[in-house]
Amino acid sequence: MKKKFVIAGNWKMFKTAEESRRFVSDLERDLPDVAGIEVVLFAPFTSLAAMKGMSGRIGIGAQNLFYEREGAFTGEISSVMLQGLADWVLIGHSERREIFGETDEMIRKKIPAALAVGLRPLLCVGETLAERDRGETVSKIEGQLAAALAGLEKGDIRRLAIAYEPVWAIGTGRNATPAQAEDVHRFIRGWLAAKLGDASGFPLLYGGSVKPENSGELLAQTDIDGVLVGGASLKVESFSAIINHSRDLLDK
Ligand code: PEP
Repeated sequence: MKKKFVIAGNWKMFKTAEESRRFVSDLERDLPDVAGIEVVLFAPFTSLAAMKGMSGRIGIGAQNLFYEREGAFTGEISSVMLQGLADWVLIGHSERREIFGETDEMIRKKIPAALAVGLRPLLCVGETLAERDRGETVSKIEGQLAAALAGLEKGDIRRLAIAYEPVWAIGTGRNATPAQAEDVHRFIRGWLAAKLGDASGFPLLYGGSVKPENSGELLAQTDIDGVLVGGASLKVESFSAIINHSRDLLDK
């Protein structure tokens, strides 16, 4: 049994502003009335203004930012521009790393930019299938964490959440087994505890083909405090089923 879960949806490049509004009002109707579940929707930039203020129970996240405040960066959005529109921001999602060439150094610069305006970063880390097969899962995760958090004060690190998303499980229908996910989460918590002293309440989310059929078993693992859901967050029925599974695992 757990005290708190974060259940987050990553809509990727789906939903117009109007579709986003409809989703929020439909989800709001389905939300269980319990403390201890933090629901967040990581929506396209173009939906944020439309979703703003619609629900006091659903947090809004952006899916990316650029680390400069302003300037000649065509097509980019800064943290300052997101202020007042989002509560959270995804940083270092594997699609950004792989498709858009984001480096560890860029990811490291994005975290303080987010924190400076009060946005809560959800940092994503994860290994590829080739890295897992070579036995490099832990060293890959450790390298990504060390690079992303380099130079941050302990107090700032405590303002983050981290999502473990094995690249081979994202959008593939192939989720990590609960035991595989738990192993990596336990490693991350231990790594954070060595840095922070105590990481017992630090939110660690699992992401990678999470759906209503597997979310309960994943969320029941000791070091899994929530899930980051892609495909199954696009429909209210499946996303709210996942939220309801987390409710069943909360301390009564
Ligand atoms: C994601 O986009 O972060 C993700 C985990 O996607 P999916 O649930 O579709 O695998």
